Order: sequence, then C-alpha cells, then structure tokens
Amino acid sequence: MCRLRVLINLTTIVTNNMALEQDQPISFEFFPPKTQEGREKLLTVIQQLGKINPAYFSVTFGAGGSTQQGTIDTVLDIQREGYSAAPHLSCVGSTQQNIREILANYKTHGIDRIVALRGDIPSGTLDAGEFRYANELVAFIRQQTGDHFHIEVAAYPEFHPQARSAQADMANFKQKVEAGANSAITQYFFNFEAYIRFVEDCDKMGVVVPIVPGIMPITNYSQLARFSDMCGAEIPRWIRKRLEGYADDRASIKAFGTDVISELCQSLLDYGCPGLHFYSMNQAEASLEICRNLGVQGT
Ligand SMILES: Cc1cc2nc3c(=O)[nH]c(=O)nc-3n(C[C@H](O)[C@H](O)[C@H](O)COP(=O)(O)OP(=O)(O)OC[C@H]3O[C@@H](n4cnc5c(N)ncnc54)[C@H](O)[C@@H]3O)c2cc1C
Repeated sequence: MCRLRVLINLTTIVTNNMALEQDQPISFEFFPPKTQEGREKLLTVIQQLGKINPAYFSVTFGAGGSTQQGTIDTVLDIQREGYSAAPHLSCVGSTQQNIREILANYKTHGIDRIVALRGDIPSGTLDAGEFRYANELVAFIRQQTGDHFHIEVAAYPEFHPQARSAQADMANFKQKVEAGANSAITQYFFNFEAYIRFVEDCDKMGVVVPIVPGIMPITNYSQLARFSDMCGAEIPRWIRKRLEGYADDRASIKAFGTDVISELCQSLLDYGCPGLHFYSMNQAEASLEICRNLGVQGT
C-alpha cells in the first residue's frame, strides 16, 4: 500500500475497526484439506485467523458430495478450536434423502449456518440428481428444518457464467431469497461498481437481505486467472497487465495484490457493505495483511 494511502488510513483506523467489529463482520472460507499435513496446516491457519475474531469460518463442499466427509471433518476441527463453522452444501447430483441425512448430521453437531449452493456437475457425470437449482435446495432446507439454519446463498455481481441474461440471473437470485435465504455471499470481483449496482438493483427489486462481498486476495496470478475464467469474475485489464508484468516476481505480485484488494475492501466498507467474506485458500497471511490495512489488528 502506498505511503500516502497508509497515512490517510491511519486517521480512519479507529473508526473502521469499531465499525468492523460492530456491524461489518469478517468471515473466512476454507476448502477441506486432502492430507493429514494439510489438515495440520489448516489448524494453524484457523488459530492465526481466529485472532481477529471472525464471525465464522465456512467450508466448501465438493459438488456431487465428493468432499462430504472432508467438509464435516473440517467443520468439527473449527468447532474444536472454539469457532463457529458454516458448511457449504451443494445439491447438484444429490437426492432429497442424501440432503436430509446431511442436514440431520449438521444439526446433531450444533451447526446452525449453511451456505446453500447448486454446485457444478462434475465433468463426466450425467445424473443431475433431484435438485436443479439452488432455490430448490433452499426451499427444501426450510421445509425440512424450519428456521433452524441461517441460510447463505451465492450472488454474482458480474453475473453467473451460465446465466441467460443479467436480468434472468437477478430474477433467479430473487427466487433464492424468496425461497428462504437469510443473506448472500458474492462471487469475488474486482469491479467495485458491479457490486454497488447489483446491491442497488436488488434493493429496487425488493430483495433486501445482506449481500456480503466475497474477497479474493491476490497472491498467484496464474491460479487467479484460471479461477476467474471458470467462475466468470473479470480481472480488469490494468490489474491483469500489471500482474502479467511481474511474471515470477511473487513478492511484487503480493505487494500489488494486497494494495489493490485492501483498497477495494476499504471502498466496500465505506459504502456500508454488511461484512467481508475472504476466500482464504487455506492461507492466513494474505487475508491478515488486508485486515491489518483495514485497521483490524486482532487480539
Ligand atoms: C460464496 C460461494 C460459495 C461457493 N461454494 C461452493 C462449494 O462449496 N462447492 C461448490 O461446488 N461450488 C461452490 N460455489 C460455486 C457454485 O456452486 C457455482 O457458481 C454454481 O455454478 C452455481 O451455484 P449457485 O448456487 O449460484 O446456483 P444457482 O443459484 O442455482 O444458479 C446457477 C445458474 O442457474 C440459473 N438459474 C437459477 N435458478 C434458475 C431457474 N429456476 N431456472 C433457470 N435458471 C436458473 C442462474 O441464473 C445461474 O446461471 C460457490 C460460489 C459462491 C459464490
């Protein structure tokens, strides 16, 4: 972050810190580690990120149930460390019976927050299962478990790559909220205006649930480019060109990435977004540095 910006931020640190703690909670997303080594590393990451008192840690769920056990194992690790956990649950390729059993298991473990998704059909799989879209999963969770779960759904300020049109995607998002979602987490984005426009259009449509920006720290350009191609998040040209120019200079990529994302987060907080959800990629350092730039020092 440039010097001038740091000086400006220093004057706002106290206010931002208070705002973050009171109204704009932070959460972090993990994926279930595949190895014992990954699991042990994640425990350290949980402790490091835990120091800034996140509202919860969420854990992804492989579409088709491929990480079902890994998801619950990671959720239990988070709980054992003393933090709230929110498993993701994707419905594509699943049956009602399977989802019913997963919900019962989550309830047994005292889980009361879920991120409900459609997921993507794994390539080579033909059977889409008994749910077509996330709104059907949300309705099913409500039908089966009433108000037990706080349900988060996904939102796409730059629109879902398979959406027929921007308008159709917004209407589909509305359907998910009407089916019973309490709040939403967005796909990551680098265009601040896309988020503002999305939130304001939701407001006009009468969709008033909190829409928490999903934040992707930038640490690795080739990985970011691959993810962004898949999920439809646009990397603006000026960011892409600079990252490309750094080539293998990882330190410069991290420094620039931290600067850009810290400024994005600051703009979002100033706008009044209802929190920040970090796609941590099971790493603490990049998210923590951004949080420090926002004035969140932790305990
Ligand atoms: C915060 C977040 C967390 C995620 N976590 C995971 C995870 O843990 N595991 C995983 O596999 N994936 C995850 N994903 C990725 C997600 O599963 C994919 O983006 C998937 O393609 C769409 O899921 P969805 O829940 O948004 O689907 P939906 O809301 O069902 O939308 C999917 C597409 O269908 C369209 N659509 C929706 N309803 C209808 C309808 N009734 N009729 C016609 N079209 C419709 C939408 O416009 C959209 O184009 C996550 C994404 C986000 C943003």
